[in-house]
Amino acid sequence: MSKTMLPREAELRNWAARGLEAKGEVLLDSMSRLKAVVTRAAFPATARIKCRKDEQYRYVVEVEAEMTVTLQCQRCLGDCEKELTTTSTLCVLWTEDAVNELPVDYDPLIAGDVSNLHAIIEDELLLALPAVPMHEMGSCGHVPTVFGDLSGDAVVEKENPFAALKGLLKNTASAADKE
Ligand SMILES: [Zn+2]
Repeated sequence: MSKTMLPREAELRNWAARGLEAKGEVLLDSMSRLKAVVTRAAFPATARIKCRKDEQYRYVVEVEAEMTVTLQCQRCLGDCEKELTTTSTLCVLWTEDAVNELPVDYDPLIAGDVSNLHAIIEDELLLALPAVPMHEMGSCGHVPTVFGDLSGDAVVEKENPFAALKGLLKNTASAADKE
């Protein structure tokens, strides 16, 4: 029936010391912050967490996550599907003090004994969200108004209400003249 769920909790330093890894799914319902910003997701996220110690005996967690979400296109306000994919190398730290000592290809993961793996996946997916979700040009339902404004027709059209008003005033005036 359903695929394996990613374990919810792990002692990541312990996992790293033992070289453990886990693969599985994370439901959108388990990721409330992500759920609040997406319209929906047809399938759960798929995730992989691989723990190891590096040459400096640091606790390293490699995270991969993927999820296809439906967002609201900021141009046409319609549904817009985006595939979020993310790969990060996290280093487990007790406090923020050690953050500055990390190599540039590591991201800090401040963690106590037990970490919530679903929250880690959620953080990564949130970072992978586009700042301004939009359809590709051509597949977007909205015709940008800037193009209309640049064409002569649109400019003439914009003046029409005034032209119509002028015509109306003339007619009224001429109607008044006739009386
Ligand atoms: Zn659109």
